[in-house]
Amino acid sequence: MRFSDDFIAELRSRNDIEDVVSKYVDLQYRGSRTPKALCPFHTEKTASFIVYRDTQSYYCFGCGNGGDVITFIKNIERLDYVEAVRFLCDRCGMTMPTDPVDDEYLRLRRRCYEANREAGRFFCACLKTEAAAHARAYLEKRGLKPETVQQFGLGYAPDTWDSLVKHMKSKGFTESELVAFFLAKQGRTGRAYDVFRNRLMFPIVDLRGNVVAFGGRVLESGTNQAKYVNTSDTVVYKKGSGIYALNFAKNNKDRTLILCEGYMDVIAMHQAGFTNAVAALGTAFTQEQISLLSRYCDELILSFDGDEAGQKATQRALRLLANAPMKLRVMKIVGGKDPDEVIKTQGKERMRELISSAPNDTEFALSAAETKYDITTDDGKLGFLNEAVGILAGIANAVERDIYISRVAQRTGTSREAIVQQVRRAMAAKKKRSEREQFETEAREAAGDDKGKIPNPERRTNLRACKAEETILASLLKNPDYLKRYASMLDADSFITKVNKALFIDIAERIRAGRPLELSYFAENASNEQISMLSYLIALGSRIAGTPQEFEDCIRTLADEKMKRSAAAASDMSDDDFVAMIQNKRKKAGV
Ligand SMILES: [Zn+2]
Repeated sequence: MRFSDDFIAELRSRNDIEDVVSKYVDLQYRGSRTPKALCPFHTEKTASFIVYRDTQSYYCFGCGNGGDVITFIKNIERLDYVEAVRFLCDRCGMTMPTDPVDDEYLRLRRRCYEANREAGRFFCACLKTEAAAHARAYLEKRGLKPETVQQFGLGYAPDTWDSLVKHMKSKGFTESELVAFFLAKQGRTGRAYDVFRNRLMFPIVDLRGNVVAFGGRVLESGTNQAKYVNTSDTVVYKKGSGIYALNFAKNNKDRTLILCEGYMDVIAMHQAGFTNAVAALGTAFTQEQISLLSRYCDELILSFDGDEAGQKATQRALRLLANAPMKLRVMKIVGGKDPDEVIKTQGKERMRELISSAPNDTEFALSAAETKYDITTDDGKLGFLNEAVGILAGIANAVERDIYISRVAQRTGTSREAIVQQVRRAMAAKKKRSEREQFETEAREAAGDDKGKIPNPERRTNLRACKAEETILASLLKNPDYLKRYASMLDADSFITKVNKALFIDIAERIRAGRPLELSYFAENASNEQISMLSYLIALGSRIAGTPQEFEDCIRTLADEKMKRSAAAASDMSDDDFVAMIQNKRKKAGV
């Protein structure tokens, strides 16, 4: 299937490569213009996987995997080209340019939404039955009002093996659909049985109002069952991608969101009037969730449990949020183990106070460090200062940094100047470290050249020529006008290696036809090697000068290499071959 250039352009612009990649790898931003990461396509200890924002491409200098956002999805999700396009369409809400009626995938999605809606209705109805008395008692004990239960669509999954399966079959859904939608599982006998049994059900609603998944909470404590059973990946839901209650919280006017740990906290907060509370679904907070949150808030208040696990979760979230665009604050949950309990035992007003007095991330980190040491002793003071200096050195804003330096000085009775000096030293060391990392990456990039990761089999034996060819091609991608300008000096025959010659022919054709030169437009028909080579060239594009001078130098280098080769070839030739070659040349020249 062919896609139009316009369609691919739209798809690319709606799927920012940095955004997409960050869902799969931890991008590091320290000390470099371009984010990098440990490569998801090969095992490595230092990051060689680089994302280029301006060209919307990526390239791994360790294994040579590279391409655009479509190639990335193709490789990481192991899809074919059309499936990868479909995946990205889906991600950004675009429609595939096909007839939706016969599109099996779209049909399946529609069925999944319908099934979830029907299952949600069924669970709600079950909550009202006699068999659900204990579930209602639990909700009452947690202080949830009937309106709240209704607003969040809470339900009950009966304590049987096939209530839902039977109900759904009566509504026309097949067992295999239910299994695919994670509402049922296939038993050993081949019959389907309910995934959710004797659980309080929390439907998960996306921003368009569709039920996309369920969380089922165990009702009997002390059993050895998992506390939560959650929907796995389906055609409409990807684990770790959603934010619970964002469908309600997204309209909040002051663009502040409160991030809680669980469903019950969020619901209790909403009931108490804090309608900007949300929770990250899934056990691990992901970059994709962060980028989703950042679209709906300028300030994020973390409100995790007060226990040790909650504090660890807070630290982890803060690390992940370090490069997030929003302001961060951390609520201190005192007088209860979680927000739900605080509201219940101390009331809304107390909660409001906790929210407004929540310290920012620096204050939080400093006070967390302080609790680790006894700063009335010299050893404790030193330990705390060491840690504090690290935190202070990480503050980008100079005014802010100054304020906290004064505070730490005051708190520990140390001179301000001494701390300033330490912080400066730490910042310099940090800068040096990131410069060294940058240097190492570049050295690896250069070394990578010789490791033969660049998919050109002739490269090793023709390094000088190859480098000139690569620079020419990379420059041409940036400056298509050079093709015409140097037409008298450069054509396909100027190239020595087959791979680069073929690329030149392809690129030149595109330039003459006025077609776009971004990677995506090549991706459809190109082989993996060609894509890898092209993304290497695009990566190279950001490191070369791209000037006419450089271009001309490379053309001369190529001509020089070509001459050396024909001289060498001539000396290796038999007399007959030599004569044939001369005659051939004469014929070409028309002599
Ligand atoms: Zn790699």
